[in-house]
Formats: sequence, structure tokens, C-alpha cells
Amino acid sequence: MSKRMAAMIAAMVAAPVLAQNVKITPLGSHDGEFCPQDRALILEDPNGTRILYDPGRTVAGPNDPRLGKIDIVLVTHMHGDHAGNTHIKETNVGECGKPEFSAISAMPNSSAVNIALAKKSKIVTGSEMQAFFAAKLRANGGQASDAILARFGGSQTVGGVRIATVTAMHSNGLDPDYIGGDMGKAMKDAGIAGYVGEATGYVLRFSNGLVAYFSGDTGVTSDMENVVRRHYNAKLTVLNIGDTFTTGPVEAAYVINELVKPTTVIASHANEVGTKGGKVVPDSKTDKFMKAVKGAQVVIPLSGKTMEFDANGKCVSGC
Ligand SMILES: [Zn+2]
Repeated sequence: MSKRMAAMIAAMVAAPVLAQNVKITPLGSHDGEFCPQDRALILEDPNGTRILYDPGRTVAGPNDPRLGKIDIVLVTHMHGDHAGNTHIKETNVGECGKPEFSAISAMPNSSAVNIALAKKSKIVTGSEMQAFFAAKLRANGGQASDAILARFGGSQTVGGVRIATVTAMHSNGLDPDYIGGDMGKAMKDAGIAGYVGEATGYVLRFSNGLVAYFSGDTGVTSDMENVVRRHYNAKLTVLNIGDTFTTGPVEAAYVINELVKPTTVIASHANEVGTKGGKVVPDSKTDKFMKAVKGAQVVIPLSGKTMEFDANGKCVSGC
């Protein structure tokens, strides 16, 4: 072999492999498990943009060491288990089935707002939630312009990631505790919530071409087929499976098998102890969902375990 050839081969071997994968890391209440309150995910684009999806109650506020840099916070709707009305003090406290998520109140701001303020993140939401977040940021020394609107049908590109919102059939009442004062009290006494528009789901297009659908809380909608699959062609789905408040395992499997038909689905929002020692609990909703899905790979989000997805939604690492 010539010297030149040897040098060329050495250079090729030494060249960094361009990791064009999207990294997803669940931030649940207990390391290595899938616990009842777990919703939060960190989504990292290959270009380095880091997105926090629905911080909920299992991110220990802005100082949670798992957060790192956060460029964008996504909030599907205002319910406390998504925007974060309370949150854990730290991970692994109490049992998976009973995480101590009421340790710290995040009211009247929400954990989403507190994290966005500390990290100087943008908050991208649909409906009328953008105005609410703009007001909260402004009232706490942040920039109102950091609350960005992507209403249904439109999109915003932030940090190289295109963020669109899609229908979620749920509810989205604003807890009067976000409002406070006489008005908040009067609303509470009357049992009514504030109006901030519809709950949303998200469709993200990452810089490697991966299109991913994040359902938020929703029932079955025809948009899952007509918009999420036929228009956006999402290859990765994060879907609620918990029943009572959202689709249960059977309905969620129908969504995957017949409507969205992604390459991979990450279960979410199970409202149960989904795993023990990192293994799916037999006969759990998580187990039923896994067994009912045909054609797509089902991935269980184990807290702290990073998964990598290629442009086609295939899990190439960590699943
Ligand atoms: Zn929820």
C-alpha cells in the first residue's frame, strides 16, 4: 500500500461519523422505569437543537440536571400533568407507583414557564395558549416574544425544526390557580376553568428529515389519518395509552395500526406502573398496547434512557 493510500484510509477511519439521528430521552420520575406520571421527553435534533416536550410533573423544575440546554418548550395543553402545576423535588423519590410529584408547586406559573424563563427557551404552542404564555413570560421578567404561535394548519421553524400543531380531541381548561386573586377564586367557587383554546398535538420535522407526531392527550380523530399520515407522513409517533382521559391501549393500537401507521410508536401517558426493573408489567395497559399493535415497533420510554431514530423513524439505538 502506498503511503498516500494509507494516509487516506487513516483519514477516512478517523473521520467522525455524522450522526444524523434524532435523540429522544424520557424524563420520568424514576430512572430506567415507565411510571404513571411520565410524559416529559427531551428531543434532540442532529443539529443540536434541544426541545422539551410537556415537562409535566416529573421534571424537577428548571434545576433538574437532566435538562441541560433547552431551546424550545412544547406544551400540548394546560392540564397540570402536562404544563406542570407541581413537580418532583428530585428523581427516584418514593415508588414508581407513587412518585412524590406534589413536592413543589409551580403555580401560578407552571413548570413549563419556569423552565422557559431559566433556560431562555421559546415556548411554541397552538390555540390561545400562546397569549397566556406570553403574559406569564412578560410578568416574570421574560420576553413575551419568546411565546410563539403555531395554530392548526400552520407551522413555525425554530432551531431548524419545523413545528406544526394538529388536532387533539381533549379539553384544555385553565386552572383558576393560574389566574389567582378574586377572579381566580370566583371561578374556582363556580367550578369553571379559563378558556385558552383547544388542546393540541404536534408534528415535528427534524433536520434529518424525520417527521414525528406527538399526540398530547387525545381520543381517536380522523385527522390522525387525514392529516398526520396523509399530509405529514409521520414515521414516529408518541401516543397516549392511559384510557379514561385519553385513548386506552385498544384505541391507541387502532390509531397505530389503521390511521397513522408509523414505523415506531413510543407509548406515553400510561397512568400506571408500566415497568418493573425496566421490564413491562404483564397484563398492564402498556403490555396490552404492545400486544395489540401490528406492524409498528412499540418502544417503552424508560426514564433517562436515550433512544435514537433515523429519518424513517426506525430506532437505531437504545430501544
Ligand atoms: Zn394528561
